[in-house]
This record gives sequence, C-alpha cells and structure tokens, in this order.
Amino acid sequence: MTDLVIENLSKKYGDVVALNDVSIRIGSGEVVGLLGPNGAGKSTLLKIIVGILRPTSGSVRIDGIDILENPEAAKKIIGYVPENASLYTNLTVAEFLSFVGKIRAVPDEELSQKISSSLKTFDIEEKRNALVGSLSKGTKQKVAIIASTLHDPRFLVLDEPLSGLDPRTQRFVNQWIASTAANGTTIFLSTHNLDIAQEYASKIAIIDRGKIIAMGKLDSLRKLANSNDDARLDDVFLKLTEDIVAAS
Ligand code: ATP
Repeated sequence: MTDLVIENLSKKYGDVVALNDVSIRIGSGEVVGLLGPNGAGKSTLLKIIVGILRPTSGSVRIDGIDILENPEAAKKIIGYVPENASLYTNLTVAEFLSFVGKIRAVPDEELSQKISSSLKTFDIEEKRNALVGSLSKGTKQKVAIIASTLHDPRFLVLDEPLSGLDPRTQRFVNQWIASTAANGTTIFLSTHNLDIAQEYASKIAIIDRGKIIAMGKLDSLRKLANSNDDARLDDVFLKLTEDIVAAS
C-alpha cells in the first residue's frame, strides 16, 4: 500500500527554486531517509508534506488524502518534528504535552496515560514537572518527539531528528525510530548522518538543488553511482552529488 504520493512538486521563494518537479512514493511502514547537501530543499519538502508551506505547484497525498484540499484530515494522521522545534518554554513538560494533546483532540484519560507511558519510554519521567525552558537539547528533542506522537500518527515526518544529540541519545532515538516503524508507522526523515541512514532507512532519497537525483535501496544507488557492491553510502552520496555538480 502506498502511504505518501508526491507528484510534480515545485516551490519557489521569489527567484529561488527550492524544489523542482519532485515526485516520490513511499509505501506503508517504510523508513525513508532524505539526504542532501545544505540548501538542497529538504526542510522545504518536509514542510510542504505536513501542510505548513504551500507549494508553487504539484500535489501531496497521504493515505489518499490531499494535504492542500483536506489539510485537517491529513494532519490527523501526520506527526511532525521540525528542525529546532520551538516549544513553550514557560510550561512544564506535563503541561506542554497536555496542551498539545488537547489541541490534537486526544481524549483526556487516554492522554494522561499516553503522556506517562511516553515519558517512561523516553526515560525522562523525572522531568515531568520541569520547565521546558530548563531542559537540555536532547531532552527537549525527546519532548518534541513525544508531542508529535500523542495522537498516534501513522505517518511521521522528522526533520534532522538527531542534530545536536550526543551519541547515546542518537542511538536511543534511532532505536525508537526502528521500533516505531516495526509497529507499522511510515517514517520520512531528513538527516546529514549517512551512517544512520544506511543502518535504519529501508530506502534513501537523495535531493540536490531541489531535484530528487536518486531514490531506492542502497544497492540500486550503488549501481547508479557505478560504485562497488560494498561501497559505503557516504561514498555513493558524494559521487552522486558530485556528478550533478560536474554536469551543471
Ligand atoms: P539544510 O540542510 O541546510 O537545513 P535544506 O536542504 O533543508 O538545508 P531548505 O531549508 O529547504 O534546504 O532550503 C532550500 C533553498 O530554499 C535554499 O536555497 C534556501 O536558502 C531557500 N529558502 C528556504 N526557506 C526560504 C525562505 N523562507 N525564503 C527564501 N528562501 C528560502
């Protein structure tokens, strides 16, 4: 079953072409890693998918629902963790999560159970009554992830979820991503961490200058780059993005 269908998506900011005719399909339960150099268009693409930016042209359907035509229905099944999520710093963790859950219309009893079990899963129960503004970056990121999943979305969009996290927290978040996907959630995440993409993503999409230049399993990307069968993703990535620079 296909979960996400993006067709001919383009986005211009004035004269800047951030996305140029992007088409992608992601199947149910897949973890797809979006890689690309700085400024390639990753955040722009993810923001359009979750309905906080309008494309210049093209369409996005999630589980058959068009994000432009029916944003409320689509947002019910999407969870989104932005790059550098800004959280309400003057609320405690529990207050903030209750607030987000209520906006997401999670029933009260379910919400308090969900908050307690998520704080436990993410090993931050002792932060329940701490002010969000007092948290370390890693704990804030955990809170942002919990907030994005309170309504049990079946499609998760994560924009550089590992940025600025220490190795232990990165490993924790990665294992959480893997187990969430194993439970049937479809995940589309951008990352600059190629090792992580190689280990956890079932498919890789490479974007450069607003265009998807390759998408598939590592084996097919190796073939596209004329690389060896055992070439690492970072070599394949550099080769594919260098080829584009060389050809332009
Ligand atoms: P990074 O890896 O550095 O986070 P990215 O791949 O997420 O980059 P985007 O943030 O999507 O890239 O930016 C794509 C292009 O669009 C860049 O040229 C950027 O300067 C431009 N851009 C992004 N947002 C805006 C904006 N609000 N106004 C004008 N240009 C923008």
